[in-house]
Amino acid sequence: MALLITNMQQQFQCKKCGQCCRIKGTVSLLPEEVDAIAAKLGMSVYQFTAKFTNLMPDRKSLTIIDGNGTSCVFLSDSGLCVINDTKPIQCRNFPMGWHYKGAETICRGLQETKYDR
Ligand code: SF4
Ligand code: SF4
Repeated sequence: MALLITNMQQQFQCKKCGQCCRIKGTVSLLPEEVDAIAAKLGMSVYQFTAKFTNLMPDRKSLTIIDGNGTSCVFLSDSGLCVINDTKPIQCRNFPMGWHYKGAETICRGLQETKYDR
C-alpha cells in the first residue's frame, strides 16, 4: 500500500490550474497556520482573522473566506496561491493526501494519474 501511494505521488503532477481553489467548500485553518499566514501577510493575528476568516458553526475553528464568491480569497488572478509557502495542510495535501468522489473532474493532474477510483 505504501509503495502504491508513493508511486502515485511521484506520478502526480499539479498543473497549477487553480481549479481546486475555485470549487465550493471550506478551507479550515489550524491555530499554527493562522499564525504563519498572518506573519506571511505582515498582519497581526487579530487583523488577519478579522479580515480573511469566517467562524465555523462549531465556533471553535476558522476557515478562509471566499474572494469573489467563486474562489478562495488567496487565489491570484494568475491562478496561483498568494500564500503558497504557508498554505494550510488541507490545501497542501490535495489531491494525493485526500480527495473526494469526482475530484478528477476538476483536477487535470488527477486525470493524468493512474489510481484506483
Ligand atoms: S486542480 Fe489539481 S492540477 Fe489544478 S491546481 Fe489543483 S491540484 Fe493542481
Ligand atoms: S489557500 Fe491557496 S491553495 Fe488553499 S484554497 Fe486558497 S488559494 Fe487555494
